[in-house]
Order: sequence, then C-alpha cells, then structure tokens
Amino acid sequence: MGEKGLLIVVSGPSGAGKGTVCQEYLNSNSETFLSVSMTTRLPRRGEIDGVDYYFTDIDSFKGLVDEGGFLEYARVYDNYYGTPKNIVRENLLKGKDVLLEIDIQGALQVKERFEEGVFIFIVPPTMEELKNRIVGRGTETAEELLKRFKSSYEELNFITRYNYLVVNDNVKDASDRIKSIIIAEKCRVDRNKNFYRRLREGVCDDISFFG
Ligand code: 5GP
Repeated sequence: MGEKGLLIVVSGPSGAGKGTVCQEYLNSNSETFLSVSMTTRLPRRGEIDGVDYYFTDIDSFKGLVDEGGFLEYARVYDNYYGTPKNIVRENLLKGKDVLLEIDIQGALQVKERFEEGVFIFIVPPTMEELKNRIVGRGTETAEELLKRFKSSYEELNFITRYNYLVVNDNVKDASDRIKSIIIAEKCRVDRNKNFYRRLREGVCDDISFFG
C-alpha cells in the first residue's frame, strides 16, 4: 500500500494536551518518526537537547532560516520554533510516517507546501477543562496564564483549516482516534495510485490463471 510515509501534523491550543496525546500515539506506534523541532527557548527542567528539542540561539536559528533549512518556522509566544526540513523528507521517502507537533502558524505553512499532509486539531472537551489544564501546570504567572488562555480561545477559530478534529477527553481514546485517522488516510484511493496500477497490470500479465 501507500509508498511514501504520511506527514501527520498535529496542533491544538495550549492546554489541549496535544503533547501527551502524541506521546501516547508514539508509544503504541513506534515506527512513526517524531520530528524534533529546533527552538530558541531555554530548556525546561528535565528537557533533553536532541530529544525534546534542539535548543539553539537566535543567530543559529536565523542562519538556518536563511539557508532554507526549515519546512516551517514560527514565533510562538516569545521564542522561535522550527521543523528541520531534511530529516522529515528523508523519513517520508523511506516510507516512514512523520509526526509534527507544531503550532497553528507552522501547520498552515506546511499545508501550503505539502497539502497531502494530514492535519489534525486536538481540542479539550470543554473550555473549563482547558482552563484547569493551563492553571494545573503551575509554571506561569497569572498574567501569562491569562495570555495563554486568550490565545488558546482564539486558536479555536482555525479548526476549519484542518482535516480532522480530535477531542482529548481521554488520552488513550484520543490516540486511538488518531490511529483510526491514519489507517483511513492510508486506504484513500488517491494515496494508492501506484498500488492499484500494479494490481491491474498483474491481472493483464497473467490472465491465464483462470485456466
Ligand atoms: P513549548 O514551548 O510549550 O514546548 O511549545 C510551545 C508551542 O510551540 C506549542 O504549541 C508547540 O506545538 C509549538 N511548537 C513546537 N515545535 C514547533 C515547531 O517546530 N514549529 C512550530 N511552528 N511550532 C512548534
């Protein structure tokens, strides 16, 4: 079936739990390649360079922008984030699915360049739940929390630019829904042109099997 891997782009407002859902998905689909982004933000406690992000400084980041090294990049809050292009391309060509967990600005850039990607938007079940999750992190000031909540609310306007909506009411269920989406996408006729061409050619070559 599908020759090239699938580019899966997951976004959603801050507090929707997209990171946890993506991690759950990767735990049970270990053949999927997670793209590690580059960022100018400082590492949080426990984050590892090369695993969570490639942490870098603004000059190196801009250097890579100038070289055309990013599939997309964006300024999110006060930092830059970008998806290194080559590693994504290499994995897709190898037939591996590649998962990008990126913000909406980045996802829209990818959609312009790569419309055969699968664009998934993760939302919390209610806004109340979103608020609880943002506050629950306990890492930010009240002002920062309000800023995050407002921007999460506004980000909901972009749902219609995506192909699929996944409600994160339960991490395992949300991850299973992503799996179902990927299975369905891989069965799409337009993703299997080479396969059905070969299927038809096979019959023409060997019609004698009817005796
Ligand atoms: P955080 O700093 O909390 O890890 O991430 C902040 C936001 O940046 C999240 O919405 C996350 O999805 C987004 N993000 C992470 N990596 C990338 C990237 O490579 N490109 C873009 N556009 N957004 C990213």
